Amino acid sequence: MAYQGILHRYGQLLDLPAHTQPVSLLEGNTPLIPLPRLGRELGCELFVKFEGLNPTGSFKDRGMTAAISEAVGRGAQTVICASTGNTAASAAAYAARSGLRAIVLIPEGKVAMGKLAGAVAYGAEVIQVQGSFDDALSLVVEITQKTQIALVNSINPYRIEGQKSAAFEICDDLTHAPDWLCLPVGNAGNITSYWAGFKQYNQLKASGLPQILGVQAAGAAPLVLGHPVDKPETVATAIRIGRPARGEQAIEAAQESNGMIIAVSDAEILSTQRILASEGIWVEPASAAGLAGLMARTATGEFDPRGKKIVVVCTGHGLKDPAIVTESFKSPEVIPATYLALSSLILK
Ligand SMILES: *Cc1c(COP(=O)(O)O)cnc(C)c1O
Repeated sequence: MAYQGILHRYGQLLDLPAHTQPVSLLEGNTPLIPLPRLGRELGCELFVKFEGLNPTGSFKDRGMTAAISEAVGRGAQTVICASTGNTAASAAAYAARSGLRAIVLIPEGKVAMGKLAGAVAYGAEVIQVQGSFDDALSLVVEITQKTQIALVNSINPYRIEGQKSAAFEICDDLTHAPDWLCLPVGNAGNITSYWAGFKQYNQLKASGLPQILGVQAAGAAPLVLGHPVDKPETVATAIRIGRPARGEQAIEAAQESNGMIIAVSDAEILSTQRILASEGIWVEPASAAGLAGLMARTATGEFDPRGKKIVVVCTGHGLKDPAIVTESFKSPEVIPATYLALSSLILK
């Protein structure tokens, strides 16, 4: 049968209430792309789980199909979220699909254009907050406690349930869990979901457990520093978060899996974004953090990838944040429309 989305494929493994009414854009089922060249350099078997290929361009769709399906079933009319961008676009799309009103709060001036455009295109009411993502999330929590408006941030447990599906897919594709899973950590919903998913699948199918490498940006690394960061700063806007809602669970996932949470610099994130692009995979900056962490620790000798099977999660598509590439690029050469001009330029 044709693919019908993650609730259809994995619904029995997700803890969702009986009133849930599936709203799907056929999210999930993303490819696990081998990186043989880089894998050879590192001496490991390396794969990218390319979550940028979800319907709205990020993994957020896996959790959003679950959260919106539950909200619809409970009779919600309006959903709200705080977002660094991708949650906004995803909430907006799934709300549009089901005829709900969507309100999204974003930190003023700090959301990449491709994400903001998505939220607007899908018809969400977008509000800029003079503050950080964390400030916006506090407002969302308060208004959903005082009204019937449904919260669809990853504090919502159904988001976590839906996002477990990525771990199931990886185990199904490899026939077992990888040795390591490397991924960016912002609000820490995704690392929480992966660990829960791998544990559940291991109990069910003895698929094994990966060690988890969670990677934050150095300017927004509360879980590495051990305290909240009041003014988080990084080019990786999707993980520009100073008070992760699921910080404790992220640390648990790292500890229980015998993994770790580390930080990488913006320069490392951007150079890794280019390395991925050189393998044909263009991701937004935050999405390069997992591989950046793996490569940084391998370079210092603190991590030995040799002989391992490693999956890096690339959480969002490069098209979300084109400015980060075009800004650092000189604009393309301009030539007259003649064969002579073209040939003398490229046939040197
Ligand atoms: C949301 C997001 C993250 C961070 O995920 P958390 O669950 O908040 O830790 C990383 N990368 C991208 C592209 C995202 O959209």
